[in-house]
Amino acid sequence: MRRRIVFLGPPGAGKGTQAQMLAEFLGVPVIATGDLLRAEVAADTPLGRQAREFMEQGALVPDPLVMEILKRRLAQPDCEQGFILDGFPRTLAQAQALEELLGPQGRAIEAVLELEVPEAVLVERFSGRRVCRHCGHVYHLHTHPPRCAGTCDRCGDALIQRADDTPATVRTRLQIYHQATEPLIHFYRERGLLHRIDGSGDIDRIQHATREVVVAQDDTQGA
Ligand code: AMP
Repeated sequence: MRRRIVFLGPPGAGKGTQAQMLAEFLGVPVIATGDLLRAEVAADTPLGRQAREFMEQGALVPDPLVMEILKRRLAQPDCEQGFILDGFPRTLAQAQALEELLGPQGRAIEAVLELEVPEAVLVERFSGRRVCRHCGHVYHLHTHPPRCAGTCDRCGDALIQRADDTPATVRTRLQIYHQATEPLIHFYRERGLLHRIDGSGDIDRIQHATREVVVAQDDTQGA
């Protein structure tokens, strides 16, 4: 079973949802750098104060800041049996830094799952996306609505639209994905780690495909 996993894919591809479902199956934590950064901003830490402006514009937070929170999180005991990275790495420099961090510890990444979703579907997903302002659980107005409109099923707090889910910011984030993050597809394919998964359509079917990759024993399945 592969337990050190990276999810790749454009913003809105469903990485968060799939990563959470896979984490429950594998019994390992999801490490979402976006969530870690939002927590720093909310707590108004020095790191959060530096990251805030980049995030509001939909730009990438500088690598040293992201590496600092990632290293801190990966050092926690719950990551010993594995982890799923969601939203990291986003640049070649981050992917290289991750290799340098994990390789010497014998904890190298074992599979990279790329969720492929057509751009038109992404834009639709963003416009309907709502998140709980307290626990961060993600909903969609049409495909995954809460039981009671505007309220989180899990904790009862209010659902909000993320400040960076506006159409202009979404365009910036998609552009950054194409420029900075897409080259990682080649990087991981060369290493035999890349698995492409059709990320449009039914959530359970996509999850089934991701589980097939993590339980596969032979390493010749890379795309
Ligand atoms: P996400 O929740 O993954 O969409 O991330 C939200 C925002 O956090 C991004 O638009 C970036 O500003 C920032 N961010 C999250 N992860 C990274 C990363 N690996 N590198 C740089 N910036 C990041």
